[in-house]
Amino acid sequence: MKIIEVKNPVLKKGVHYLTQDYKTREKNSHNGMDMIGKGKAVDEIIAIDNGVVSYSGYSKTAGYYVEIKHDNNLISRYLHMKKGTVKVKKKDVIIKGQLIGTMGNTGNSTGAHLHFAVYDTKRNALDPLPYLQGKLNFNSDYFRDFVMGVQTSFGAQVDGIAGPETLSKTITISAKANRKHQVVKYLQSYLNALGYSEVGAVDGIAGPKFTKAIKQFQKDNNCVVDGVITKQNKTWKKLLKLL
Ligand SMILES: [Zn+2]
Repeated sequence: MKIIEVKNPVLKKGVHYLTQDYKTREKNSHNGMDMIGKGKAVDEIIAIDNGVVSYSGYSKTAGYYVEIKHDNNLISRYLHMKKGTVKVKKKDVIIKGQLIGTMGNTGNSTGAHLHFAVYDTKRNALDPLPYLQGKLNFNSDYFRDFVMGVQTSFGAQVDGIAGPETLSKTITISAKANRKHQVVKYLQSYLNALGYSEVGAVDGIAGPKFTKAIKQFQKDNNCVVDGVITKQNKTWKKLLKLL
């Protein structure tokens, strides 16, 4: 059992022990990668990249499982989840790092693990490793996804292009004001994509880690460094690339 180094994690604690590799070139085929988490234990499963849930349900072989369709129409699939832990449903918009469920032993499985698979548009299985390593990706356009998330959250016209109309609908977000607003998860995901890894988990809550990342963003963008996102302190304008 070896640890695989990944750039795009599918396990929350970030440690991926490979228990069975992907193999289709041999007779004994296995169309995904089997993994367990930190300490060779059960971990929570997170989305490898942005996308939309195309299936969430149960089958005799896969157990409780989720499929996410990504921008480039590739699909990532997460199998054998523990009953009652699946956090997402069909048509949910998912962002990279979002919690999907907990590793389990449902379906055709002999011990709690994640079977992670990647499929092309014709439902052919692809080697998941380069996707985990970030050598291949699901082509997310993080800025556009972020803008669409902001527009959805504030009831602005959703077109992925930020302008005065989008800005006019933004509100103040801080550790005190609207700290659980749905836009927070889009902010967390976007800051993460920009390299502000101190932002921590994509949990939709503006806590201390979120504030730290916002302060660093403000510092880098010549804004008032207060960890508060307002129109007045220019932070929204900088985030939306309007300044
Ligand atoms: Zn497997």
